Amino acid sequence: MQESSKKEAQRIGFAMIGGLIIGLIIHQFGLGSYSEYIKPLGTIFIRLLKMVIVPLVFSSIYMSMINLGTPEALGSMGRKAVGYYFLTTCIAVFFGIIFVNLINPGVGADLGTQGLQGLSAEMATKVSEQKGLYQTILGVLIDAIPSNPAAALANATVLQIIVFAIFMGVVALYNQEKSAPISKVMGSLEEMSLALTHAIMKFAPIGIFVLMIDVMARSGFTAIVSLSKYIATVLLGLLCHAVFLLFVACTRAKRSPLYILKGLSAPLFTAFSTSSSAATLPITMASVEENLGVKKETAKFVLPLGATINMDGTALYESVAAIFIAQAYGIDLTLAQQVIIFMTASLAAIGAAAIPGAGLITMSIVLGAVGLPLEGIGLILAVDRLLDMFRTTVNVFGDAVGTLVVDSLLKDETGK
Ligand code: ASP
Repeated sequence: MQESSKKEAQRIGFAMIGGLIIGLIIHQFGLGSYSEYIKPLGTIFIRLLKMVIVPLVFSSIYMSMINLGTPEALGSMGRKAVGYYFLTTCIAVFFGIIFVNLINPGVGADLGTQGLQGLSAEMATKVSEQKGLYQTILGVLIDAIPSNPAAALANATVLQIIVFAIFMGVVALYNQEKSAPISKVMGSLEEMSLALTHAIMKFAPIGIFVLMIDVMARSGFTAIVSLSKYIATVLLGLLCHAVFLLFVACTRAKRSPLYILKGLSAPLFTAFSTSSSAATLPITMASVEENLGVKKETAKFVLPLGATINMDGTALYESVAAIFIAQAYGIDLTLAQQVIIFMTASLAAIGAAAIPGAGLITMSIVLGAVGLPLEGIGLILAVDRLLDMFRTTVNVFGDAVGTLVVDSLLKDETGK
């Protein structure tokens, strides 16, 4: 890891801890509303990160196609990535189901809930309009094809941008002479996007500091106490999964846990404070390549895809939350119902957008699949923002480790 990256990671770490402490103090003195005055700095940071997503994803995927050289190479990488996503998501859900059944956080939980009324009007509509599992997964597949690439780029619909870039990349591979000018522009756009990411990262300590103050200053601690068993269950599951991912990363990279964690500290802290895998993507891409030595072609393809469809933390959280709600309502789930939760939680995470609170919306798929009341979402609402920070961190960690795994498998295969 370069000296400058180390310093950058340290600054981000201090900023996060500093923001956390100051936010807690502000909250303690009942001055939470004052965080409004500094919040715009955090919002600017998130917007800057989002600003770079579209040019970065589009040019990186296109260039990774050009550098891979054949569609078969992309197929081989894609299969490995999807295999990894599938396996690790199932393992994450498994951890969730084991812990929630061992700890039983919902048994005897206070049902004094506001139901869906506790959600903002927009969220409540999204939750009640959420389609069933089949339609959601089919919807993800159909929606992945952009009927209007310009709209996909304009709306930053990442999966559509990935698909369009792959198509353009394949066409460019077969028409090298004709596509040469575009490829040159894309190469340059990619370099510029990365340079822009580095420039934005200089602002990360301030952005993260402010975001942490804001979240902490406005958090509701009474809910934290009454839902402490539930929070502990989710965190324990996430921790076990993170340790498992770390073990996989160390084994594949043949590096110490400290080396991996230090290399990924910037994206992990950013994920924690923004609660958005998408906003963190530019930083994850830079860190994986520069600090963990993953080949550019692998990172460029596997990370954007992972940020969109691979969400281990969200899948784990959804399984715990669904079973917690059943326990709170005194509903005994059969083994078959738990298996359905296992499957739907894994798949619902694919459908969740990489933005704050998305996991809460796709929760309704899991609840609906086993006939649990949608109003149960109101039970866990108060601590969702807090848990989102942790699950997004695990989501981003899972994406980064996945890139490392796919890269090392490819290196084993090709010997380079
Ligand atoms: N915030 C999460 C992410 O961006 C998604 C979720 O709500 O679980 O990865």
